[in-house]
Amino acid sequence: MDYKQHIAIVEDWPKKGVRFKDITPLMDNGKAFKSAIDDIVEYAKSLDIDLIVGPEARGFIVGCPVSYALEVGFAPVRKEGKLPRETIKVDYGLEYGTNVLTIHKDAIKPGQRVLITDDLLATGGTIEATIKLVEELGGVVAGCAFLIELTYLHGREKLEGHDVLTLMQY
Ligand code: 5GP
Repeated sequence: MDYKQHIAIVEDWPKKGVRFKDITPLMDNGKAFKSAIDDIVEYAKSLDIDLIVGPEARGFIVGCPVSYALEVGFAPVRKEGKLPRETIKVDYGLEYGTNVLTIHKDAIKPGQRVLITDDLLATGGTIEATIKLVEELGGVVAGCAFLIELTYLHGREKLEGHDVLTLMQY
């Protein structure tokens, strides 16, 4: 399926010079959204995973339906202060300043095979930080799946050594 026809490109959002890829038209279209999720489900089946981990908020939109389809759990990665129980955290650099991501300490059992999901791979900073959290808890990153990859930002270089699926490339 040609998923790109369901992606809206928003010029100068959230700031000037950015061409934001809006996935909500894809989510609005039941057939297209199901087909995209099914593609990731097939990929996940080939990896023999035990758990899915995704960063807020759009990592949940991609990861949770895959988790439901495969009957494996989903563990959220969230910004600091959002998870109610004991967490571990990682800092990572943004264009301006830093961000902190956290995961519950007991979210992953050592040796569990994890699929990481998000809507979009840009510089790879978010997923690199998510991989650090998974590995610190003893999880094995079996693969990473995204709807969209911005190839000109070279995020894949940060994910070297990891298996990566992206359904659309810009
Ligand atoms: P990265 O950390 O790879 O530079 O940025 C990826 C993160 O930023 C993802 O969590 C993604 O949701 C968000 N993001 C950055 N640019 C876009 C965009 O154009 N469209 C969407 N939907 N998300 C974006």
